Amino acid sequence: MKPAPFKYASPESLEEATSLLQQHGDDAKVLAGGQSLIPLMNMRLARPGVLVDINHVAGLDGISRNGGLTIGTNTRHVTVLRSPEVRAYAPIVNEAMRHVGHVGIRTRGTFGGATAHADPAAEIPAVLLALDAQITVQGPQGTRTIAADDFFVSTFTTELEDDEIVTAVQLPHPLDHAAWSFHEVSRRHGDFALVGVAAVAELDGSGNVSRARIALSGVADTPVRVTQAEDSLVGRAPADGADEAGRLAEQQLDPPSDFHATSTYRREVAGALVTRALQDMDTKGGSR
Ligand SMILES: Cc1cc2nc3c(=O)[nH]c(=O)nc-3n(C[C@H](O)[C@H](O)[C@H](O)COP(=O)(O)OP(=O)(O)OC[C@H]3O[C@@H](n4cnc5c(N)ncnc54)[C@H](O)[C@@H]3O)c2cc1C
Repeated sequence: MKPAPFKYASPESLEEATSLLQQHGDDAKVLAGGQSLIPLMNMRLARPGVLVDINHVAGLDGISRNGGLTIGTNTRHVTVLRSPEVRAYAPIVNEAMRHVGHVGIRTRGTFGGATAHADPAAEIPAVLLALDAQITVQGPQGTRTIAADDFFVSTFTTELEDDEIVTAVQLPHPLDHAAWSFHEVSRRHGDFALVGVAAVAELDGSGNVSRARIALSGVADTPVRVTQAEDSLVGRAPADGADEAGRLAEQQLDPPSDFHATSTYRREVAGALVTRALQDMDTKGGSR
């Protein structure tokens, strides 16, 4: 199918882009990589009257080190996947990105687009939650930064106002003693996962967990943390607490049933993936 008629604007500055969004309200949509928006428009599930293409806005692209890592919103998935900085300082992002779609999608799709799109089954939102990332957004009133914990509100819905644009995502500085793990189960490689888990743990000098963040995709209308499982790990090696954390995660979750999987199946897979993620964390070593 073809999209419903729409107007197209290609601003060259953020000010111009946010002012267009302000002018058109919820009739306008930001166009980034187009890998989610255009299929929705083709199926007429989305009918924006105006597309504000941010691909020519300067300064929204690239990965820089600033203590942690800052990933500009327009940075393509493939650039993130190939980035030596991401591999060295945020390897869980590299691992997760290997599961995002296929080459064609990764070539156009953007890091900020996947963040703003907030698909509850997507890898990046869950990883941002596990990493305690900060999302920088800009609107006509200025810039603000939103913690990943607060950013994802519901299915395809975030804290973003209609006239705001995600400009960058900040990943915190990796801890000296940190472990991480990412796993997902999907029907075929590259498909959206039925369930995914991103786990990050800060370890003390004895290799025991002092703080953990475990986020899952595909089990609710947003990515969710399993806080009881996280707390149960404190003071233990990740692998020693893996079974109990998996059980606690399973108890906390009440996933929806859909065409792809029942609630019971998703819950059991989620528990098993949490256990698996914690069991293989140690072997992956620190995040440097
Ligand atoms: C066949 C197929 C398989 C896929 N598989 C996966 C997968 O396994 N995992 C996965 O995570 N994704 C998958 N995707 C989606 C892909 O990752 C998209 O690239 C991503 O979801 C959206 O990024 P985009 O840059 O293409 O955004 P767009 O499609 O341009 O935009 C998506 C939404 O976000 C908004 N938006 C985009 N950028 C901004 C911004 N900077 N500020 C404010 N709002 C913004 C748009 O207005 C729109 O509502 C798949 C897509 C396809 C077509």
